[in-house]
Amino acid sequence: MSVPPIPAASGHTAGQDAARPLAALAALEPLMDKCVHCGFCLATCPSYLEVGQEMDSPRGRIYLMKAAIQERVALTPSAIAHFDTCLGCLACETACPSGVQYGPLIEQTRATVERMTTRPPGDRLFRRLLFSVLPYPARLRALAWTLAAATFVKRRPGLLALLPPRLRALTALAPDGPAAPDVAERTAARPPQRRRVGLVTGCVQRVFFGDVNAATVRVLAAEGCEVIAPAAQGCCGALALHAGEREAARGFARQLIAVFERHPVDVIAINAAGCGSTMKEYGELLHDDPAWAMRAQAFAAQVRDVTEVLAELPQAAPRHPLPMRVAYHDACHLAHGQGVRREPRDLLGAVPGLEVVAIGESDVCCGSAGIFNLVQPAMAASLGRRKAAHIAATDADIVVTSNPGCILQIRSAQTPPQARPIVHIIEVLDASIRGADAATFKVPTHPAAGR
Ligand code: SF4
Ligand code: SF4
Repeated sequence: MSVPPIPAASGHTAGQDAARPLAALAALEPLMDKCVHCGFCLATCPSYLEVGQEMDSPRGRIYLMKAAIQERVALTPSAIAHFDTCLGCLACETACPSGVQYGPLIEQTRATVERMTTRPPGDRLFRRLLFSVLPYPARLRALAWTLAAATFVKRRPGLLALLPPRLRALTALAPDGPAAPDVAERTAARPPQRRRVGLVTGCVQRVFFGDVNAATVRVLAAEGCEVIAPAAQGCCGALALHAGEREAARGFARQLIAVFERHPVDVIAINAAGCGSTMKEYGELLHDDPAWAMRAQAFAAQVRDVTEVLAELPQAAPRHPLPMRVAYHDACHLAHGQGVRREPRDLLGAVPGLEVVAIGESDVCCGSAGIFNLVQPAMAASLGRRKAAHIAATDADIVVTSNPGCILQIRSAQTPPQARPIVHIIEVLDASIRGADAATFKVPTHPAAGR
């Protein structure tokens, strides 16, 4: 079932969304009505597992949304708190036998909350700080010097504990190492060329996970893909969309579409699950913008996670053995948001000597979830410890995932001596193609425990 459009008879436009935010949520009432209150989703909902209250579950939130549009419940701070504890992980969509599309519901609820209410000054300031820096690679690079300070503090638990909770989370999650340079705008395929692939390099990913982008380019090129990574590209809007900043997300989407329209490619690849999930929904995000609706649909139809791109191509580059056990962590926006579970496991399974081992509660979010671990640090840290404990219970040598947010979150939650190296799947494939040793993956400089 597709998401119902806002009724045309209302003369609705994006600009009017701002004036009538509750009407925009009310237009999604048919989606709310699909919930039959069975509760099958509760066991995989991380906020319900943590808080144990009905109102912090998918079923409870849908009830609350319905009460809000019927104006039986006001959007008070205590009501909003139940929406704020939602990670947007979409595990409930996977679990739901009735096909409830919870994603559009929570996105529009968040947009409604941000339009209709005013957050406390400290909360507003913190969110404004995040959204004025994170989506802008140039600003992130300019602030990269702060990483040295963050690394200094997070190695000193006593000092870290003195920080306020949100600043402590920001510090503990800060990546190690300097900002990375961009990948080349064009990289030739190893012949024979099989695809021309556009690469979305991300904003945070581009600055702090340059190694992952570089590995992505090498693997795609080795598999016969010419790689085009336009330097002019910016943020995809995922962070903004997941936080209820819908208009900002639409602006980022238009910019990204326009950049890639100047570079015709066969497919657009992304190596960050949260970004891929959002870009595949650009058609819905811009459906009511006559100038962009078709362009957004065309862009979205080309988007693939990099593991999908590779899984579609018969393997050309030989893999060298990597004898190690890998705990594969499903990023929520890849597994639940895009339904991509088989491709990463198949790609890992094709590496000689590599064994994939399962992690307990694999459907439950690690607590990363966009900016969730920054704005809800206590619950995020608890979920991180929960995930780290499941990983510690395996006999894996290394943890592999497909989203930079998960890497930072799990890395900061692991504690010695059980801490394992955690890397992006593309780095494993790259190491195998290059013939690198399994010892290339090391436990990083470890943040202080107790976040
Ligand atoms: S998106 Fe995740 S946290 Fe939110 S209700 Fe669904 S399962 Fe729970
Ligand atoms: S599983 Fe689906 S139908 Fe059942 S309570 Fe959850 S959202 Fe509602």
